[in-house]
Amino acid sequence: MVITIIGSGISGLTTAFYIKRFRPDAEVYLFEKEPYPGGTMRTEDIEGFLFEAGANGFLSNKPDTLELVELSGAKEMLLRSSDAARIRYVFTDKLHQLPENPLAFMRTRLLSLAGKLRTAGEILVPPRRTQADETLQSFGYRRVGKEFTDVFLDAMSAGIFASSPELLSVNAAFPAVVKLEQDYGGLFKGMIKKRKKEAGPGGVLMSFKGGVGRYIDYLANSMDVTLRLESATTEIIRHSDGYVINAGDTTLETDKVVLTTPAFVSAQLLRPMDTALADHLDAIDYSPIAIVGFGYDTLVHPLNGFGLLTTASANKKILGILWDSSIFEDRAPPGKKLIRVMIGGQRNPQLALKDEATLVQIALEGIRETMGIDDQPQLTFVKRWERGIPNYKLGHLNNVDTLFKRLENHPGLYLNSNAYYGIGLNDCVHNSKQCAQRVVADCV
Ligand SMILES: Cc1cc2nc3c(=O)[nH]c(=O)nc-3n(C[C@H](O)[C@H](O)[C@H](O)COP(=O)(O)OP(=O)(O)OC[C@H]3O[C@@H](n4cnc5c(N)ncnc54)[C@H](O)[C@@H]3O)c2cc1C
Repeated sequence: MVITIIGSGISGLTTAFYIKRFRPDAEVYLFEKEPYPGGTMRTEDIEGFLFEAGANGFLSNKPDTLELVELSGAKEMLLRSSDAARIRYVFTDKLHQLPENPLAFMRTRLLSLAGKLRTAGEILVPPRRTQADETLQSFGYRRVGKEFTDVFLDAMSAGIFASSPELLSVNAAFPAVVKLEQDYGGLFKGMIKKRKKEAGPGGVLMSFKGGVGRYIDYLANSMDVTLRLESATTEIIRHSDGYVINAGDTTLETDKVVLTTPAFVSAQLLRPMDTALADHLDAIDYSPIAIVGFGYDTLVHPLNGFGLLTTASANKKILGILWDSSIFEDRAPPGKKLIRVMIGGQRNPQLALKDEATLVQIALEGIRETMGIDDQPQLTFVKRWERGIPNYKLGHLNNVDTLFKRLENHPGLYLNSNAYYGIGLNDCVHNSKQCAQRVVADCV
C-alpha cells in the first residue's frame, strides 16, 4: 500500500506518523516544496537567540500534541512555560494587565462599571434560538456586551487568528464557546457546570527545548517514511484505482493521496480534476502576517509576563508583542532577552507585506509606543508570511462541510490542514490523527 502526503507541516508530519503507527507496513512518501520540513513551524538560531518564525507553543489542556510527543518518544524535549508567562497585558489607551480572576476583573480599568455589569449580566441572557453562523463580534455583543467584546475578544482574535471579531466566524473559530451556549444556555452557566464536572488544572503553554523547529526535525527524521524535500508537487492525476503524482523529478504511482498543503495550493492541484472542489478551496482566503524578532544583550525592561496584545481601538500598527525569553527560558542566552512583534493579519494586511526595513521600523515604533522601550536591539529577525493564516470568515464551516462532501467523489484522496477545522497545533494534530484513521480504514 503506497500512501503519499503532500506538504510536511505539522499536519503532514502528524498524518504520516499516525499512518505508520496504525499501518506499519504502509509505504509512506512525503513531498515538501521547501528545503526543510515544518511549514510555518520553524526556529532560527542566531548566535544563541532562538527566533520562532511562527508558532511558539501549544496548550496542555488538550491531549493531542502531548500524546504525539509522547508516542514519538520525545517527552524529554518538552519545555514548560515559566509561571510569569501567565501575566498578560493588553494595550488600549495604555498598558493594562489582563485580570486573572473575578476580583481583578472588577478592579480593572479596561472596562467601565457599566461594561463590567453588562458582562456579568451574561448569565441572564437567553440562548440564541438559531444555530446559524455568526461573527465573533455579534456573538460577543449579544452575550457579554460591546465593551468586553471590543477589548477582550478583539485582543484574543488578534492573538490567535490575527483577525478581528467582525470578520471571524465564532462557530468556526471557537466552536467550544458556541457549544457552551447551546448546551448550557450561556457561557457562565456552562463554565460553572463544566468546572464542577471536570475539576482539574487549566492549560499550561508548552513548547520544546531548542524551539519548535527542533521537534519538527526530530519527528521528520525519526519516522520510517520517505521525505523528499525541495519536491513541490505539480500534478495529481487519477489513475486506475489510485493516483499519479508529479513532484520535482519524481513521478509516483500511489494508492492514496493526502493533501496537507494550504487551501489555495490544494485548489490549484485539484482544479483539473474537479473545478467545483477547487472553487470551494479557493473560497478560503488567507491573511498575511509578519514576525519581527529582536535580540537584546542588555535590556532594562524586566519583561515580566507573556507579552501584550493591542486592540483595534488602540490604533497601533502592531498586533502584539511576545516576550519570548520570559515565556521559555532558553530562547535567549543567559542574561539576554528576545521579543517578537506581530504585524498585519486581517486588521492591517497591507502592513505585513512591507519590505523588511519598514517592518523593523514599525516594530520598533510599536515597542516604543506600547512598552516605552527605546533601546536598539543587537539582533533582528524578520519573517513575512504572505498567506500566513487562513481566515475563518462567516460561512466557513458551510463551505468546508460542502467541500468535504464533494471530496467523497474522489476515493483515495484526502484533505487535511489548518484551513478547515482549526488552526492551533492541537487542532492540527487532532485532525491529522483522525485523517490517518480514515486513510488506514480505507486501506482494505
Ligand atoms: C505567525 C504564526 C504564529 C502562530 N502561532 C501559533 C501558536 O503559538 N500556537 C499554535 O497552536 N498555533 C500557532 N499558529 C498556527 C499553526 O502554527 C499552524 O496552523 C500550523 O503550523 C499549520 O500547519 P499545517 O501543516 O496545516 O500547514 P503549513 O505549516 O502551512 O504546512 C503546509 C506545508 O505544505 C508545503 N507545500 C506547499 N505547497 C506545496 C507543494 N506544491 N508541494 C509540496 N509541499 C507544498 C509548505 O511548504 C508547508 O511545509 C501560528 C501560525 C503563524 C503563521
